[in-house]
Parts: sequence; C-alpha cells; structure tokens
Amino acid sequence: MNNEGKYKGRMKLTDGICIYCGRLADGNICDKCLSERNIERLKKEVLFKVEGRVKLNEFKKFILISIARHNLSVLEQHFNQRNLYPEISGRIWLNANSKSVVGSFEIHSGEIVDIVKADVVHQITYKSRSKHTVLKWKAIYKSEGIMSGVATTHALKNLYDAGIDINKLKIESVKLDLT
Ligand SMILES: [Zn+2]
Repeated sequence: MNNEGKYKGRMKLTDGICIYCGRLADGNICDKCLSERNIERLKKEVLFKVEGRVKLNEFKKFILISIARHNLSVLEQHFNQRNLYPEISGRIWLNANSKSVVGSFEIHSGEIVDIVKADVVHQITYKSRSKHTVLKWKAIYKSEGIMSGVATTHALKNLYDAGIDINKLKIESVKLDLT
C-alpha cells in the first residue's frame, strides 16, 4: 500500500483515543503504544475496555492467576498474608503508603517476582507480558476500588476465575484499525 492509500484509509476513521494511554489516536491506538506491541499478535486478539468495582483481594488474586495459573497454590503461599503483593519490574507495580521487598523468586517465564510488603495500597497497575491487557486498580475506600483498562478474552477469564462478577463490570469491545 502506498502512503496515499494508507492516509486515505486512516482519514475514514473518526479520531479516537488510544485505549492504552488515552492520547488522541487514529484507530484507537497511538503509534507509540503500537510500537511497543506485536501487531500481528494484536490483530488476532479480541480486546475489551472494562471498568467496575473490584475488591483489592480480588484484583490480587487475578494477578496471581495471571502470573502463574498452573502453580497457583505455590504462588499463593508466597502471598498468604493480606499485606503481601507481587511486583514484576515494568509490568506489575503498586503505589502504597509504604513498600518494602521482603523476597523474590523466579517464575516459569524467567521473570523475577518480588514479594512486596505494602501498607495502604492506593493503586496497582497490571500489564500482561504481551502488553495487550493493561488494567489499573485504584482504591476508593479501604479495600474497595475501581478497576479499569483493557483486557483480552484470556484476561476476562482470569478476572472471572479470581471471583470477580463479570456481569457487574462495564465491558465494551474495542475495534482496532491495524490494517
Ligand atoms: Zn497510546
């Protein structure tokens, strides 16, 4: 496709905003966020914008399932206290009144999971390895919070498995222009 054709194709779309960073973007994803992801894999994905009330322990469970579904019981032992949370550099991190790393271990993917002791969690950001799913949990009162972001069908299943009532979430499918 020459540049002119590409340009015309893009002009047909109404200006949207990037589902990942919120900047104005044609086709609902900006060039920067697109460059950080595998376009061929993204084309095969079904994405949803999700938002709704989720409890902190439910979101923590979702992260543990997402990290290591097949080793969940082992993983849960590492985080068996309420104030222990997983962090993975560049992928999963939390904002809290205080934070300290009390241990770490390697998972199947070769990533290092830090065991973080945290007091008063304000926010947790989760990115899947593919970066297709990006979900943020923000506290509204104590352990009650709002989760929002972009999820794949796989992530929706993990949210469900974490005990989150999917029917109570606002879920809308996203169409990306990746041609
Ligand atoms: Zn973006």
